[in-house]
Amino acid sequence: MHDEPMSHSSMRDQERGGANHDVDEPDAVKANASGHAGRLMVLTGPTAVGKGTVEAALRAKHPEVWVSVSATTRAPRPGEIDGTTYWFMTEDEFAAKQRAGYFLETAVVHNMAHYGTPLQPVLDHVSAGVPTILEIDLQGAHRVKQEAARLGLDVVYVFLAPPSYDELVRRLIGRGTENEEQRRKRLETARLELESEHEFDVTIVNTTVRKAADELWTVIAREYALPLD
Ligand code: 5GP
Repeated sequence: MHDEPMSHSSMRDQERGGANHDVDEPDAVKANASGHAGRLMVLTGPTAVGKGTVEAALRAKHPEVWVSVSATTRAPRPGEIDGTTYWFMTEDEFAAKQRAGYFLETAVVHNMAHYGTPLQPVLDHVSAGVPTILEIDLQGAHRVKQEAARLGLDVVYVFLAPPSYDELVRRLIGRGTENEEQRRKRLETARLELESEHEFDVTIVNTTVRKAADELWTVIAREYALPLD
C-alpha cells in the first residue's frame, strides 16, 4: 500500500495557489529577499504511529529543528513535563487564550480534550528561518491550511503512516497509556486519519524509527535547501 515513500497531493497546491505574500497583519511572516514566505512542516499521523519517537530521533541528530510545543487540556501522562511535552492547562485557561487569539489553530481531539498551537512562537521561529514542525492532528492540519496564506506561511504537509492498521493497534495496546474506552476513541480517529493520507504532500511510513526520521530530514533538507547528512 505504501511502496512509494513520497506521494504528491492537493493540500499544498491549493495553499500555494492562494498564497498572499503581501499580507500586512503584524503577525504575518513577510516574504524574504528571495520572495519566499516562512516555511513550516505540519506532521500528522494517527494515534500511536510514533510521531513523538520519530521527532525525538530527528532532533537527536538535527537539534536545529524546532518542534512547536502545543497546549492541551488533557491530563499529563507519567513523565510528561509542562512546557516541554505540552503546555498543560485547564479548559478555562485554554478558552481564555483562544478568545485572545493566542492560537494558530485549535481542535478537540478524540472527542476528549482541546489541543492548540501557540501562534507567536511559530511565527518567531519561521521568521528566523528555523526548520519548524507542528505535530498536530488532521483537523489542525486543515485549519493551518486555511490560515497559511493569510500568515504568509509556505507549508509542507507530511503524513506519518503505520505499516498497517493492525500494527497501529498493536503499538497502541503495547504502550499501555490508554484505557479501553480511550483506545476505542483513538482508533476511531485513526481510521479517519488514515483515509486522509492522500491529502498530504508527503507520506512517510514508520517501519523503523531511524528510517522515518531520516526520511523526515530528507523532506526538511529539501525544503530548506540544507545538506542531506
Ligand atoms: P496525545 O494526547 O497522544 O499527546 O495527542 C493526541 C493527538 O493530538 C495527536 O494526534 C496529536 O498530533 C494531536 N495534537 C497535539 N498537539 C496538537 C495541537 O496543537 N493541535 C492539534 N490540532 N492537534 C494536536
